[in-house]
Amino acid sequence: MHAEIIAIGTELTTGAKLDTNSQWLSIELAAVGIPVHYHVTVADDLTANINVVRAAIERSDIVLISGGLGPTLDDLTRDVLAQVTGTKLLLHEPSLEIIRGMFARRHREMPERNVVQAMFPEGSEPIPNRRGTAPGIYLEVVRPQGGLCRIAAMPGVPSEMKVMFQDDVLPRLQPASAQGRVIRSARVNCFGLGESAAEEMLGDVTARGRDPEVGITVHEATITLRIESSAPTVEESLAKIATTKQVIYARMGDYAYGENDEELHDVVVRLLNDRRQSLAISEIATGGLVAHRVNCVPGAESCFRGGLIFPGELPTENARTSGGAKLAVEEQARTCRQQFDADWGLAVGYSSQSTDDERSATAPLVWIALADRHTVHSFELNVAGDPAIQKSRLAKSALNLLRLRLVKSA
Ligand code: AMP
Ligand code: MG
Repeated sequence: MHAEIIAIGTELTTGAKLDTNSQWLSIELAAVGIPVHYHVTVADDLTANINVVRAAIERSDIVLISGGLGPTLDDLTRDVLAQVTGTKLLLHEPSLEIIRGMFARRHREMPERNVVQAMFPEGSEPIPNRRGTAPGIYLEVVRPQGGLCRIAAMPGVPSEMKVMFQDDVLPRLQPASAQGRVIRSARVNCFGLGESAAEEMLGDVTARGRDPEVGITVHEATITLRIESSAPTVEESLAKIATTKQVIYARMGDYAYGENDEELHDVVVRLLNDRRQSLAISEIATGGLVAHRVNCVPGAESCFRGGLIFPGELPTENARTSGGAKLAVEEQARTCRQQFDADWGLAVGYSSQSTDDERSATAPLVWIALADRHTVHSFELNVAGDPAIQKSRLAKSALNLLRLRLVKSA
């Protein structure tokens, strides 16, 4: 069984407004184990609406629609549902009374136009709207090729849609097989390798149809493995998650660094505090991003001694060769550690255009270095890829370098 979400509104297809409803609905459906196979965004155009709703009914078991239920001429959802199902729109008196009542309570006359909000395709069911005037519409369509398609049309206003979905739509959607089942999820976060490499290491863990299912997503170089578990009781659901986590940790080794909302900076602060050790940071070209992330973690005041932020990039004379950059960044790490009298000095250096003759002139030159009281270790990073996430990746790579040292020195 899978769902499709249709977001209706010319303000969405023109780009004036972002469709956040589909995102929210997809997350809610995933939480109850209903996968979403399609998102469709369509303008306030009758023919276009009819086409997408027809296609959705043919290919999806659940169709959630948001938008187009208002009283104005561009609100077409109820006409679309009537046309697609070959039914007439009928006035639903109780809904009209509720709408009239809402206007009366605001001491306003109900405009004649609002009557249309109490019109429903024959055979459909009105869904109450606890937040606004437009009731939703629920209907079930038997497909010509067999099977049932359940459709719920909800208002576009996100706050109205959310309440309606949770209170009145979701209870209608849960399949009999899912009723009485408890769904729990958990995430394991990994860093330091690409998505395909992670998938290879995980092997059958991410296979479709596995119980519990494990999905893989990437955000700014962090790989997240989401475990989705369903069982008759909470205990069984959680036990299945625990077993799968063990398999993931065994396969991912040190690449796995935390769970759920945990970020690399959270882990680093926790490890430093566990060991009663301190950190100083020196950054060129990340503008203090590493220090900022560390500083935001509760408990950072016990381990974060201070940082140095330099504007721009590595000085040209240091960026001339990769070896020169390495020495410069190692010196940064050493200097900041000493200056703040910390156990660790973590440094990031970056040049967007290396002048190294041996290298491609456009390849960025990036080094990260970690100094303890005796030695300095440094690594050159390959930061090819999306420039928009480069700083974040760099900051994470630096923090990951420290994390790995802390884990190994335990
Ligand atoms: P409607 O029900 O189409 O009259 O939508 C009412 C208002 O809800 C619109 O003007 C938008 O501001 C907002 N809205 C509609 N659809 C969405 C959506 N998919 N995501 C976020 N906001 C929306
Ligand atoms: Mg609209």
